[in-house]
Amino acid sequence: MDKEKAKEEEIKPKIQALRGMKDLLDIGGEKYLYFIKNTSKIASRYGFNFIQNPILEQTSLFKRSVGQSSDIVHKEMYQFLDKGDNDVCLRPEGTAGLMRSFIQNKFDKAGGVHRYFYYGPMFRYERPQKGRLRQFHQFGCESLGQASVYEDANVILMLGEIFDFFGIEFTLDLNSLGCETCMPKYKNKLIDFLQNEEEILCNDCKTRLKTNPIRVLDCKKEKCKEVLKNAPKLSEHLCQTCSSDFLKLQDILKINDFSFTLNEKLVRGLDYYTKTAFEFVSTNIGAQNALCGGGRYDKLCSMLGGTNIPAIGFAIGIERLMELIKIKQKKENFIYLGFSKETSLETAFSLTIKKRKKTKTFIEYKPKSFTKHITNAKKMLCTHLAFIGEDEENNNTILLKSLENNEEILLSLEKFCE
Ligand code: AMP
Repeated sequence: MDKEKAKEEEIKPKIQALRGMKDLLDIGGEKYLYFIKNTSKIASRYGFNFIQNPILEQTSLFKRSVGQSSDIVHKEMYQFLDKGDNDVCLRPEGTAGLMRSFIQNKFDKAGGVHRYFYYGPMFRYERPQKGRLRQFHQFGCESLGQASVYEDANVILMLGEIFDFFGIEFTLDLNSLGCETCMPKYKNKLIDFLQNEEEILCNDCKTRLKTNPIRVLDCKKEKCKEVLKNAPKLSEHLCQTCSSDFLKLQDILKINDFSFTLNEKLVRGLDYYTKTAFEFVSTNIGAQNALCGGGRYDKLCSMLGGTNIPAIGFAIGIERLMELIKIKQKKENFIYLGFSKETSLETAFSLTIKKRKKTKTFIEYKPKSFTKHITNAKKMLCTHLAFIGEDEENNNTILLKSLENNEEILLSLEKFCE
Protein backbone atom coordinates (compact mmCIF):
# COMPACT_ATOMS: atom_id res chain seq x y z
CA MET A 1 0.00 0.00 0.00
CA ASP A 2 1.47 3.43 -0.89
CA LYS A 3 1.85 6.11 1.80
CA GLU A 4 -1.16 8.18 0.61
CA LYS A 5 -3.45 5.16 0.70
CA ALA A 6 -2.17 4.03 4.10
CA LYS A 7 -2.94 7.49 5.50
CA GLU A 8 -6.44 7.41 4.01
CA GLU A 9 -7.09 4.03 5.67
CA GLU A 10 -5.87 5.40 8.99
CA ILE A 11 -8.31 8.34 9.08
CA LYS A 12 -11.36 6.25 8.17
CA PRO A 13 -13.39 5.88 11.39
CA LYS A 14 -13.59 2.27 12.60
CA ILE A 15 -17.05 0.80 12.25
CA GLN A 16 -18.12 -0.79 15.50
CA ALA A 17 -21.30 -2.27 16.96
CA LEU A 18 -23.66 0.25 18.56
CA ARG A 19 -23.44 0.85 22.32
CA GLY A 20 -25.22 -1.82 24.30
CA MET A 21 -25.36 -4.21 21.33
CA LYS A 22 -23.23 -7.32 21.28
CA ASP A 23 -22.23 -9.92 18.74
CA LEU A 24 -23.18 -13.40 19.72
CA LEU A 25 -20.19 -15.49 18.65
CA ASP A 26 -17.93 -18.43 19.50
CA ILE A 27 -18.90 -19.99 22.82
CA GLY A 28 -21.65 -17.33 23.19
CA GLY A 29 -23.28 -18.51 19.98
CA GLU A 30 -22.96 -22.14 21.06
CA LYS A 31 -24.50 -21.43 24.45
CA TYR A 32 -27.37 -19.52 22.81
CA LEU A 33 -28.21 -22.48 20.55
CA TYR A 34 -27.80 -24.94 23.44
CA PHE A 35 -30.18 -22.88 25.54
CA ILE A 36 -32.77 -22.47 22.76
CA LYS A 37 -32.64 -26.12 21.75
CA ASN A 38 -33.19 -27.49 25.24
CA THR A 39 -35.66 -24.88 26.45
CA SER A 40 -37.77 -25.29 23.29
CA LYS A 41 -37.84 -29.05 23.95
CA ILE A 42 -39.10 -28.56 27.50
CA ALA A 43 -41.69 -25.95 26.40
CA SER A 44 -42.94 -28.30 23.64
CA ARG A 45 -43.42 -31.05 26.20
CA TYR A 46 -45.67 -28.66 28.13
CA GLY A 47 -47.74 -28.06 24.98
CA PHE A 48 -46.23 -24.76 23.78
CA ASN A 49 -45.86 -24.28 20.00
CA PHE A 50 -43.30 -22.09 18.27
CA ILE A 51 -44.37 -18.66 17.03
CA GLN A 52 -42.28 -15.96 15.38
CA ASN A 53 -43.66 -12.42 15.18
CA PRO A 54 -42.08 -9.43 13.44
CA ILE A 55 -39.39 -7.47 15.24
CA LEU A 56 -40.81 -4.17 13.98
CA GLU A 57 -44.36 -3.18 14.94
CA GLN A 58 -46.50 -0.03 15.01
CA THR A 59 -45.52 2.16 17.95
CA SER A 60 -49.17 2.44 19.02
CA LEU A 61 -49.18 -1.31 19.82
CA PHE A 62 -46.70 -0.80 22.65
CA LYS A 63 -48.29 2.45 23.83
CA ARG A 64 -51.61 0.67 24.21
CA SER A 65 -50.32 -2.54 25.76
CA VAL A 66 -47.09 -1.98 27.65
CA GLY A 67 -48.51 1.40 28.75
CA GLN A 68 -47.62 5.07 28.27
CA SER A 69 -46.51 5.36 31.89
CA SER A 70 -44.07 2.44 31.83
CA ASP A 71 -40.34 3.21 31.66
CA ILE A 72 -40.17 1.18 28.47
CA VAL A 73 -42.63 3.32 26.50
CA HIS A 74 -41.82 6.53 28.32
CA LYS A 75 -38.08 6.57 27.66
CA GLU A 76 -36.66 3.33 26.24
CA MET A 77 -38.30 2.77 22.86
CA TYR A 78 -36.34 2.46 19.63
CA GLN A 79 -38.98 4.46 17.79
CA PHE A 80 -38.72 6.09 14.35
CA LEU A 81 -40.62 7.04 11.22
CA ASP A 82 -40.03 4.63 8.34
CA LYS A 83 -39.81 5.73 4.70
CA GLY A 84 -43.60 5.67 4.44
CA ASP A 85 -43.89 7.97 7.48
CA ASN A 86 -45.27 5.17 9.64
CA ASP A 87 -44.51 5.50 13.33
CA VAL A 88 -42.77 2.19 14.07
CA CYS A 89 -40.81 0.66 16.90
CA LEU A 90 -38.33 -2.18 17.43
CA ARG A 91 -40.11 -4.50 19.87
CA PRO A 92 -39.08 -3.91 23.50
CA GLU A 93 -40.78 -7.19 24.56
CA GLY A 94 -42.60 -10.09 22.95
CA THR A 95 -46.05 -10.31 24.51
CA ALA A 96 -47.65 -7.31 22.77
CA GLY A 97 -46.70 -8.47 19.26
CA LEU A 98 -47.86 -12.00 20.01
CA MET A 99 -51.22 -10.72 21.24
CA ARG A 100 -51.55 -8.45 18.18
CA SER A 101 -51.00 -11.48 15.97
CA PHE A 102 -53.41 -13.63 18.03
CA ILE A 103 -56.19 -11.07 17.55
CA GLN A 104 -55.34 -10.27 13.92
CA ASN A 105 -55.60 -13.98 13.05
CA LYS A 106 -58.94 -14.20 14.95
CA PHE A 107 -57.68 -16.89 17.32
CA ASP A 108 -59.35 -14.95 20.14
CA LYS A 109 -62.71 -15.89 18.56
CA ALA A 110 -61.80 -19.56 18.12
CA GLY A 111 -62.04 -20.64 21.77
CA GLY A 112 -59.77 -23.22 23.38
CA VAL A 113 -56.28 -22.97 24.80
CA HIS A 114 -53.36 -21.60 22.79
CA ARG A 115 -49.82 -21.96 24.07
CA TYR A 116 -46.87 -20.37 22.29
CA PHE A 117 -43.14 -20.02 22.79
CA TYR A 118 -40.86 -17.55 21.03
CA TYR A 119 -37.29 -16.31 21.22
CA GLY A 120 -35.30 -13.51 19.68
CA PRO A 121 -33.95 -9.98 20.11
CA MET A 122 -35.65 -7.21 22.09
CA PHE A 123 -34.60 -3.56 22.09
CA ARG A 124 -34.62 -1.04 24.92
CA TYR A 125 -32.74 2.25 24.91
CA GLU A 126 -31.43 1.86 28.46
CA ARG A 127 -28.11 2.94 29.93
CA PRO A 128 -25.87 -0.04 29.11
CA GLN A 129 -24.19 -1.74 32.06
CA LYS A 130 -23.36 -5.28 33.16
CA GLY A 131 -26.48 -7.39 32.57
CA ARG A 132 -28.30 -4.54 30.82
CA LEU A 133 -28.05 -4.27 27.05
CA ARG A 134 -29.86 -2.25 24.41
CA GLN A 135 -30.31 -5.32 22.27
CA PHE A 136 -30.82 -8.45 24.33
CA HIS A 137 -32.57 -11.76 23.75
CA GLN A 138 -35.52 -13.31 25.44
CA PHE A 139 -37.16 -16.72 25.44
CA GLY A 140 -40.85 -16.34 26.25
CA CYS A 141 -43.94 -18.48 26.66
CA GLU A 142 -47.54 -17.28 26.60
CA SER A 143 -50.57 -19.38 27.49
CA LEU A 144 -53.84 -17.88 26.25
CA GLY A 145 -57.34 -19.04 27.16
CA GLN A 146 -56.86 -20.49 30.66
CA ALA A 147 -58.09 -18.61 33.72
CA SER A 148 -57.16 -21.40 36.15
CA VAL A 149 -54.44 -20.85 38.75
CA TYR A 150 -53.30 -24.35 37.86
CA GLU A 151 -52.04 -22.84 34.61
CA ASP A 152 -50.08 -20.25 36.65
CA ALA A 153 -48.57 -23.13 38.61
CA ASN A 154 -47.95 -25.09 35.41
CA VAL A 155 -45.92 -22.22 33.94
CA ILE A 156 -43.94 -21.68 37.16
CA LEU A 157 -43.17 -25.41 37.53
CA MET A 158 -42.04 -25.55 33.91
CA LEU A 159 -39.65 -22.64 34.58
CA GLY A 160 -38.29 -24.54 37.56
CA GLU A 161 -37.62 -27.48 35.25
CA ILE A 162 -35.86 -25.21 32.74
CA PHE A 163 -33.56 -23.66 35.35
CA ASP A 164 -32.89 -27.07 36.92
CA PHE A 165 -31.94 -28.50 33.52
CA PHE A 166 -29.20 -25.88 33.19
CA GLY A 167 -28.16 -26.30 36.84
CA ILE A 168 -29.05 -22.69 37.66
CA GLU A 169 -29.81 -21.77 41.25
CA PHE A 170 -32.72 -19.41 41.72
CA THR A 171 -35.31 -18.04 44.09
CA LEU A 172 -38.90 -17.27 43.10
CA ASP A 173 -40.60 -14.03 44.17
CA LEU A 174 -44.36 -14.12 44.03
CA ASN A 175 -47.11 -11.50 44.32
CA SER A 176 -50.70 -10.87 43.28
CA LEU A 177 -51.51 -7.55 41.64
CA GLY A 178 -55.29 -7.97 42.02
CA CYS A 179 -57.88 -7.42 39.33
CA GLU A 180 -60.01 -4.61 37.93
CA THR A 181 -62.26 -4.84 41.01
CA CYS A 182 -59.66 -4.60 43.78
CA MET A 183 -56.64 -2.92 42.18
CA PRO A 184 -58.28 0.50 41.50
CA LYS A 185 -59.52 0.70 45.11
CA TYR A 186 -56.06 -0.13 46.41
CA LYS A 187 -54.48 2.34 44.01
CA ASN A 188 -56.66 5.16 45.38
CA LYS A 189 -55.68 4.30 48.95
CA LEU A 190 -52.03 4.24 47.98
CA ILE A 191 -52.32 7.61 46.22
CA ASP A 192 -53.95 9.13 49.34
CA PHE A 193 -51.14 7.78 51.48
CA LEU A 194 -48.33 8.83 49.12
CA GLN A 195 -49.71 12.34 48.59
CA ASN A 196 -49.17 13.00 52.30
CA GLU A 197 -45.52 11.87 51.96
CA GLU A 198 -44.85 13.40 48.55
CA GLU A 199 -42.16 15.79 49.79
CA ILE A 200 -39.96 12.89 50.93
CA LEU A 201 -40.27 10.80 47.72
CA CYS A 202 -37.50 10.79 45.09
CA ASN A 203 -38.13 12.74 41.87
CA ASP A 204 -38.93 9.60 39.88
CA CYS A 205 -41.54 8.56 42.44
CA LYS A 206 -43.06 12.06 42.44
CA THR A 207 -43.67 11.55 38.72
CA ARG A 208 -44.81 7.93 39.23
CA LEU A 209 -47.35 9.17 41.77
CA LYS A 210 -49.07 10.97 38.90
CA THR A 211 -48.50 8.46 36.10
CA ASN A 212 -48.28 4.98 37.68
CA PRO A 213 -48.40 5.09 41.51
CA ILE A 214 -48.10 1.30 41.88
CA ARG A 215 -44.53 1.51 40.52
CA VAL A 216 -43.56 3.53 43.62
CA LEU A 217 -43.77 0.21 45.49
CA ASP A 218 -40.64 -1.17 43.82
CA CYS A 219 -38.48 1.95 44.08
CA LYS A 220 -34.97 1.01 45.22
CA LYS A 221 -34.16 4.41 46.86
CA GLU A 222 -33.76 4.21 50.65
CA LYS A 223 -35.95 7.24 51.44
CA CYS A 224 -38.84 5.83 49.36
CA LYS A 225 -38.42 2.40 50.95
CA GLU A 226 -38.68 4.06 54.37
CA VAL A 227 -41.93 5.83 53.41
CA LEU A 228 -43.37 2.58 52.05
CA LYS A 229 -42.95 0.78 55.37
CA ASN A 230 -46.23 2.35 56.50
CA ALA A 231 -48.03 2.22 53.15
CA PRO A 232 -51.30 0.27 52.79
CA LYS A 233 -50.57 -3.33 51.83
CA LEU A 234 -51.83 -4.70 48.52
CA SER A 235 -52.28 -8.17 50.05
CA GLU A 236 -54.79 -6.74 52.52
CA HIS A 237 -56.84 -5.18 49.73
CA LEU A 238 -57.27 -8.12 47.36
CA CYS A 239 -60.90 -9.02 46.63
CA GLN A 240 -62.26 -12.41 47.68
CA THR A 241 -61.55 -14.07 44.30
CA CYS A 242 -58.03 -12.71 43.91
CA SER A 243 -57.19 -13.56 47.47
CA SER A 244 -58.44 -17.17 47.27
CA ASP A 245 -56.84 -17.67 43.84
CA PHE A 246 -53.51 -16.44 45.20
CA LEU A 247 -53.73 -18.74 48.25
CA LYS A 248 -54.64 -21.66 45.98
CA LEU A 249 -51.59 -20.99 43.79
CA GLN A 250 -49.37 -20.98 46.87
CA ASP A 251 -50.91 -24.29 47.97
CA ILE A 252 -50.30 -25.92 44.59
CA LEU A 253 -46.66 -24.81 44.64
CA LYS A 254 -46.19 -26.10 48.18
CA ILE A 255 -47.78 -29.48 47.31
CA ASN A 256 -45.31 -29.72 44.43
CA ASP A 257 -42.34 -28.84 46.69
CA PHE A 258 -41.66 -25.54 44.99
CA SER A 259 -40.28 -22.84 47.30
CA PHE A 260 -41.15 -19.17 46.87
CA THR A 261 -40.99 -15.87 48.72
CA LEU A 262 -43.96 -13.54 48.91
CA ASN A 263 -42.84 -10.11 47.74
CA GLU A 264 -45.35 -7.27 47.99
CA LYS A 265 -42.94 -4.95 46.20
CA LEU A 266 -42.97 -7.03 43.03
CA VAL A 267 -45.19 -4.97 40.73
CA ARG A 268 -43.50 -5.51 37.31
CA GLY A 269 -42.70 -2.68 34.94
CA LEU A 270 -45.55 -3.13 32.46
CA ASP A 271 -49.10 -1.86 32.78
CA TYR A 272 -50.89 -4.97 31.52
CA TYR A 273 -50.28 -7.34 34.43
CA THR A 274 -53.14 -8.50 36.68
CA LYS A 275 -53.25 -11.09 39.48
CA THR A 276 -50.21 -13.43 39.62
CA ALA A 277 -46.86 -11.70 39.13
CA PHE A 278 -43.55 -13.49 39.56
CA GLU A 279 -39.83 -13.10 39.10
CA PHE A 280 -37.07 -15.70 39.10
CA VAL A 281 -33.93 -14.26 40.62
CA SER A 282 -30.40 -15.66 40.40
CA THR A 283 -28.35 -16.01 43.54
CA ASN A 284 -25.12 -16.03 41.49
CA ILE A 285 -24.98 -12.94 39.26
CA GLY A 286 -24.48 -9.27 40.12
CA ALA A 287 -26.95 -6.43 40.62
CA GLN A 288 -29.00 -7.22 37.50
CA ASN A 289 -30.08 -10.58 38.91
CA ALA A 290 -33.62 -10.96 37.51
CA LEU A 291 -33.54 -14.00 35.22
CA CYS A 292 -37.15 -14.12 34.23
CA GLY A 293 -40.27 -12.03 34.76
CA GLY A 294 -43.83 -13.05 34.21
CA GLY A 295 -47.41 -13.02 35.28
CA ARG A 296 -51.04 -12.97 34.34
CA TYR A 297 -52.44 -10.42 31.90
CA ASP A 298 -56.13 -11.17 31.64
CA LYS A 299 -57.04 -7.74 30.25
CA LEU A 300 -54.46 -7.38 27.48
CA CYS A 301 -56.48 -9.08 24.74
CA SER A 302 -59.51 -6.83 25.26
CA MET A 303 -57.25 -3.77 25.69
CA LEU A 304 -55.99 -4.43 22.15
CA GLY A 305 -59.48 -4.82 20.69
CA GLY A 306 -59.87 -8.61 20.99
CA THR A 307 -62.29 -10.65 23.09
CA ASN A 308 -61.80 -11.20 26.79
CA ILE A 309 -59.12 -13.91 26.87
CA PRO A 310 -57.29 -14.73 30.11
CA ALA A 311 -53.54 -15.23 29.71
CA ILE A 312 -50.31 -15.86 31.55
CA GLY A 313 -46.73 -15.74 30.33
CA PHE A 314 -43.09 -15.02 31.05
CA ALA A 315 -39.86 -13.95 29.41
CA ILE A 316 -36.39 -15.22 30.31
CA GLY A 317 -33.41 -12.91 29.70
CA ILE A 318 -31.08 -15.17 27.72
CA GLU A 319 -27.85 -13.14 28.15
CA ARG A 320 -28.15 -13.24 31.94
CA LEU A 321 -28.75 -16.96 31.84
CA MET A 322 -25.83 -17.56 29.51
CA GLU A 323 -23.49 -16.21 32.17
CA LEU A 324 -24.51 -19.18 34.31
CA ILE A 325 -24.87 -21.98 31.76
CA LYS A 326 -22.24 -24.64 31.40
CA ILE A 327 -22.76 -26.84 28.36
CA LYS A 328 -23.08 -30.39 29.65
CA GLN A 329 -23.50 -32.53 26.60
CA LYS A 330 -21.38 -35.42 25.43
CA LYS A 331 -18.57 -34.02 23.33
CA GLU A 332 -19.56 -34.54 19.72
CA ASN A 333 -17.04 -36.15 17.34
CA PHE A 334 -15.48 -33.56 15.05
CA ILE A 335 -13.27 -34.84 12.26
CA TYR A 336 -10.60 -32.82 10.50
CA LEU A 337 -9.83 -34.27 7.09
CA GLY A 338 -6.48 -33.43 5.53
CA PHE A 339 -4.16 -34.79 2.85
CA SER A 340 -0.55 -34.36 1.82
CA LYS A 341 -0.85 -34.34 -2.00
CA GLU A 342 -2.98 -32.11 -4.24
CA THR A 343 -4.09 -35.24 -6.17
CA SER A 344 -6.08 -36.44 -3.11
CA LEU A 345 -8.42 -33.42 -3.09
CA GLU A 346 -11.22 -35.02 -5.21
CA THR A 347 -11.33 -38.16 -3.04
CA ALA A 348 -11.06 -36.15 0.19
CA PHE A 349 -13.89 -33.84 -0.86
CA SER A 350 -16.27 -36.72 -1.76
CA LEU A 351 -15.41 -38.51 1.50
CA THR A 352 -16.18 -35.34 3.48
CA ILE A 353 -19.61 -34.94 1.88
CA LYS A 354 -20.44 -38.60 2.71
CA LYS A 355 -19.01 -38.42 6.24
CA ARG A 356 -20.99 -35.25 7.06
CA LYS A 357 -24.26 -37.17 6.77
CA LYS A 358 -23.51 -38.44 10.27
CA THR A 359 -20.49 -36.63 11.69
CA LYS A 360 -19.30 -33.02 11.89
CA THR A 361 -16.40 -32.89 9.43
CA PHE A 362 -14.04 -30.14 8.32
CA ILE A 363 -11.92 -30.46 5.19
CA GLU A 364 -8.68 -28.55 4.59
CA TYR A 365 -8.50 -27.94 0.83
CA LYS A 366 -4.74 -27.33 0.76
CA PRO A 367 -2.22 -30.20 1.01
CA LYS A 368 -0.08 -30.05 4.15
CA SER A 369 2.18 -32.32 6.17
CA PHE A 370 0.72 -34.72 8.75
CA THR A 371 2.12 -32.68 11.66
CA LYS A 372 0.83 -29.38 10.27
CA HIS A 373 -2.66 -30.90 9.94
CA ILE A 374 -2.49 -32.14 13.55
CA THR A 375 -1.60 -28.66 14.80
CA ASN A 376 -4.50 -27.11 12.87
CA ALA A 377 -6.96 -29.79 13.95
CA LYS A 378 -6.05 -29.27 17.61
CA LYS A 379 -6.52 -25.50 17.23
CA MET A 380 -10.01 -26.16 15.89
CA LEU A 381 -10.78 -28.45 18.86
CA CYS A 382 -11.37 -31.44 16.56
CA THR A 383 -11.59 -34.86 18.16
CA HIS A 384 -10.04 -36.76 15.20
CA LEU A 385 -7.73 -36.25 12.29
CA ALA A 386 -8.47 -38.24 9.11
CA PHE A 387 -5.40 -38.16 6.87
CA ILE A 388 -4.64 -39.25 3.30
CA GLY A 389 -0.87 -39.41 2.77
CA GLU A 390 0.99 -40.85 -0.21
CA ASP A 391 0.62 -44.48 0.97
CA GLU A 392 -3.05 -44.05 1.79
CA GLU A 393 -3.66 -42.49 -1.64
CA ASN A 394 -2.00 -45.44 -3.39
CA ASN A 395 -3.89 -48.04 -1.31
CA ASN A 396 -7.32 -46.36 -1.20
CA THR A 397 -7.18 -46.07 2.58
CA ILE A 398 -7.37 -43.30 5.17
CA LEU A 399 -5.65 -42.95 8.56
CA LEU A 400 -7.92 -42.04 11.45
CA LYS A 401 -6.14 -40.62 14.50
CA SER A 402 -7.86 -39.83 17.77
CA LEU A 403 -6.60 -36.47 19.06
CA GLU A 404 -7.77 -37.41 22.54
CA ASN A 405 -5.83 -40.67 23.09
CA ASN A 406 -3.58 -40.66 19.96
CA GLU A 407 -4.83 -44.08 18.82
CA GLU A 408 -4.47 -44.59 15.06
CA ILE A 409 -6.34 -46.96 12.73
CA LEU A 410 -6.08 -47.48 9.01
CA LEU A 411 -9.48 -47.78 7.30
CA SER A 412 -10.76 -48.53 3.84
CA LEU A 413 -12.60 -45.55 2.34
CA GLU A 414 -15.94 -47.43 2.57
CA LYS A 415 -15.38 -48.27 6.25
CA PHE A 416 -14.46 -44.63 7.00
CA CYS A 417 -17.81 -43.46 5.55
CA GLU A 418 -19.95 -45.90 7.59
P1 AMP B 1 -39.07 -7.89 31.34
O1 AMP B 1 -39.54 -8.06 29.92
O2 AMP B 1 -38.69 -6.49 31.67
O3 AMP B 1 -39.99 -8.53 32.33
O4 AMP B 1 -37.71 -8.70 31.44
C1 AMP B 1 -37.65 -10.11 31.44
C2 AMP B 1 -36.20 -10.52 31.55
O5 AMP B 1 -35.45 -10.02 30.44
C3 AMP B 1 -35.50 -9.94 32.78
O6 AMP B 1 -35.72 -10.75 33.90
C4 AMP B 1 -34.04 -9.94 32.34
O7 AMP B 1 -33.47 -11.21 32.54
C5 AMP B 1 -34.14 -9.68 30.84
N1 AMP B 1 -33.85 -8.25 30.52
C6 AMP B 1 -34.71 -7.21 30.60
N2 AMP B 1 -34.11 -6.07 30.20
C7 AMP B 1 -32.85 -6.41 29.84
C8 AMP B 1 -31.73 -5.69 29.31
N3 AMP B 1 -31.79 -4.39 29.06
N4 AMP B 1 -30.58 -6.37 29.05
C9 AMP B 1 -30.49 -7.71 29.28
N5 AMP B 1 -31.52 -8.45 29.76
C10 AMP B 1 -32.68 -7.81 30.04
